[in-house]
Amino acid sequence: MELNIYHMYPDILNLYGDIGNVICLKRRCEWRGITPHIINFSLNDEKHDLSEGDIFFIGGGSDRGQSIVYSDFLKYKDSFKDIIEDYGVVLAICGGYQLLGEKYIDNEGKEVSGLDIFNYSTVSEEGRLIGNVIIENQLGLTPKTIVGFENHGGRTYSDYNPLGLVKSGYGNNGKDKKEGIVYKNCIGTYLHGPILPKNPHLADYLILKALQRKYEVERLQSLNDDFENLAHKKVIKLYCK
Ligand code: GLN
Repeated sequence: MELNIYHMYPDILNLYGDIGNVICLKRRCEWRGITPHIINFSLNDEKHDLSEGDIFFIGGGSDRGQSIVYSDFLKYKDSFKDIIEDYGVVLAICGGYQLLGEKYIDNEGKEVSGLDIFNYSTVSEEGRLIGNVIIENQLGLTPKTIVGFENHGGRTYSDYNPLGLVKSGYGNNGKDKKEGIVYKNCIGTYLHGPILPKNPHLADYLILKALQRKYEVERLQSLNDDFENLAHKKVIKLYCK
């Protein structure tokens, strides 16, 4: 079994260890004998066809980085929307998550268009939302908690199903206790960290969904996640109010 993992704009959207998510997916595939192919997809990429992708990862970035990526990503908006509608697996972090929405009003009040794949918007408000985050996942995963780190000026207001409910931290906007979105196999979240190494249950959720689009697979072989679970529990012990 093989998986094509597209790392979108790794040279522009990559904050707070985001690239660690791609390394995590790669390792958890290799440890199970699944062959991962990592494709770095960036500006003016004419070599790679998005329809070959099984998992798409989009990291976070500065307001400036987001607007640079937006003008290039716009070329693929329709095909990327089709991939999401067809249950393509996507993990989009913070700036990447904001980019999939209608628009982002940055901290100078300037409107940065979004790909408008989802009808939510993000507005930069007074003060940045920074710190460790603990959410209760809405994907039915065990453990129920997902932990990470957030640092964003933007507040996202969305009616989509959230990835989780905030137990500690701010989440989408620091008000409605929702964090992230889940639409088919597309997950948007404010959680950096990187998010996946300390949440192996979420990493495996993405890998299994991607495999099930190509192969007859019911479940993944379990791995020894002692270190991962220790790191997860440590965050909860330190930051769970
Ligand atoms: N630039 C966006 C904001 O400040 C996203 C930041 C990020 O990706 N961490 O909200």
